[in-house]
Amino acid sequence: MPRQRGFITTFYTKDFYVTIFNMEKVVLAKYTYEKLCEYFESLGEKKFRANQVFSWIWAKNAKNFSDMTDVKKELREYLSENCQILDCKIKKRQISSDGTIKYLIEYHDGLCAEAVLMRFDNRANLSMCVSSQVGCKMGCKFCATGKNGFKRNLESYEIASQILLAQNDTDLKITNVVFMGQGEPLDNYENVLGALKIINQNLQISIRRITISTCGIVDKIYELANNELVATLAISLHFSNHNQRKEIMPIERKFDLEELKAALIEYNRKTKDRITIEYILIGGLNDSKEAALELIKYLDGIKCNINLIPYNSVNDEFDFKKPDKKDMMRFKYILESAGKKVTIRLERGADIDAACGQLAGKN
Ligand code: SF4
Repeated sequence: MPRQRGFITTFYTKDFYVTIFNMEKVVLAKYTYEKLCEYFESLGEKKFRANQVFSWIWAKNAKNFSDMTDVKKELREYLSENCQILDCKIKKRQISSDGTIKYLIEYHDGLCAEAVLMRFDNRANLSMCVSSQVGCKMGCKFCATGKNGFKRNLESYEIASQILLAQNDTDLKITNVVFMGQGEPLDNYENVLGALKIINQNLQISIRRITISTCGIVDKIYELANNELVATLAISLHFSNHNQRKEIMPIERKFDLEELKAALIEYNRKTKDRITIEYILIGGLNDSKEAALELIKYLDGIKCNINLIPYNSVNDEFDFKKPDKKDMMRFKYILESAGKKVTIRLERGADIDAACGQLAGKN
């Protein structure tokens, strides 16, 4: 069996080139199925060995190579010495009294992103909210992630690794995935498309059970409408008044509400899918009767469901406040009276740092 570990890396510093011999292990979760077959072939192994290892990684939640009991011992030892399944780990875990688990995932470069696992009592679903970036460039004023700035994009396998880690941690199969953690998914478009493929094909999660949420990167919404895998699209709208939205969500300065509306109508037309409109109700800011009527007018012509999210004020570093229950119910009633389908999102993990960016911010 050839020894393939390590490779030469050359990089440039201010005054000279430095060449190092990098002894890093091969990360198998990085490989597509085809690449994994090539890798095993280069080791002189048959294709079915690649099948076995691929299935252990993605379908059978193997935590390490010794779990791969049908792989011959000599190969398992070689893999343990020269490879690793993932190059990230759970750095911190918070468990809420409602069963929500928030993970802080540490990547190979020491940077961290969050992922949240949610159970809803009345459904047999296990939903995972994944991050697509470390930090975020969008700067929404109600968001801890936006406040902490942007560090880097996550690669496709790094996004999917969040699901593998949670499955390994709980020994449960995740059924639904939402791209609503840290980062703006459409600002990391290629990697998110790659992650969609891995989640759908390797982790066997139906594309109908995957949701991508964006604050409104209009040009990418048009591209997404033409993608071969069509996930559910969710829009973090939150305001249907241009001046108010532009103050709180800087994306409105680049792509305004009218451009966004045109893209959503085209998305409806192209995919035949309804869009989910996410609307964070912030006390005294966007929860009035007038705001509800303005929202109805804006959504005219867009096939959508509306998800109202009461602002989570666990984090008091912002000036925003929770909406009153009665204002929330009035808002919902006005929308429903206009024939809209509306749900109020159940609050999950209220007793932990469950709002986006809170846990990573503390670290
Ligand atoms: S709400 Fe989403 S898009 Fe806005 S700053 Fe936070 S992570 Fe980025």
